[in-house]
Amino acid sequence: MTGLSAETKMQFLFALRSRGVTDKRVLAAMEQIDRGQFVRGLFAERAYEDTPLPIACGQTISQPSVVGLMTQALDVGPRDTVLEIGTGSGYQAAILSKLARRVYTVERHKRLVRETGALFRELGLTNVTAMLTDGSFGLPEQAPFDRIIVTAAAEDPPGPLLAQLKIGGIMVLPVGQSDAVQTLIRVRRTETGLDYDELLPVRFVPLLEGLGKDEA
Ligand code: SAH
Repeated sequence: MTGLSAETKMQFLFALRSRGVTDKRVLAAMEQIDRGQFVRGLFAERAYEDTPLPIACGQTISQPSVVGLMTQALDVGPRDTVLEIGTGSGYQAAILSKLARRVYTVERHKRLVRETGALFRELGLTNVTAMLTDGSFGLPEQAPFDRIIVTAAAEDPPGPLLAQLKIGGIMVLPVGQSDAVQTLIRVRRTETGLDYDELLPVRFVPLLEGLGKDEA
C-alpha cells in the first residue's frame, strides 16, 4: 500500500483492528498488499473501505476484516504450504503469500485465473500459483497441505479437502446454505480425528460444481 495517503492506510488498518484483526504478522501482510490493485473499474476507489466489492465473473472480493479474521484463524507459519479454494480477485492469496512458504489457489473461472496469475507476476509474488480447477476436489497432486482456506460456502466441509489436510493441519471455511446465514468454522486434524470450532457468521458466494462457462 505504498502509493496511498498515510490517512487512508491508517483508517484501513484501524478498521481491521477494531474488528478483531490483532495478529501482527497478519496486519503486516495486509499492510504490504494493496487491495486497490485487486479491484478494477468503478469500484476501485472504494477498495479501502471495509466492504465486499464486485469483481469479474459475477464474483466478489471479500470484506477486508473477514479476510483478516480468516487469515488470523488459519495461523499460517513461514514453512507452511497453503491451499486456497476460490481465487476470485487474488487478494486473499496475495496476503497468504506473505505469510506462507508456498500458496496454491484454485478457481473455476478461467478469466479470474488468467488475470490473477498476471497480477501475481506483476507484483513479484513468486510463491503463489493460481490454477483452473474445481476446488471441491482440492488439489491432490500437491496434497497434503498444512493449511486450507475456502472462500466460497459449502453446506459441509468437502470430504476431499479434509482428506488433503495434514495431521496438525488447519482448515478455515464458511459452511451453510448459500442464501441463508453461514458460519465460518475452523477444522483441525488431530492424530485421532477432527476438531471443529465456530468462529463468526459470514456471507460468501456458493461453492459451485464444475468449471465456469467462460466468456473468453
Ligand atoms: N478469495 C477471493 C474471494 C473469492 S469469491 C478474493 O480474495 O478475492 C469466491 C470464489 O470462489 C469465486 O471467484 C468463485 O468463482 C470461486 N469458486 C466457487 N466455487 C468454486 C469451486 N468449486 N472451485 C474453485 N473455485 C470456486
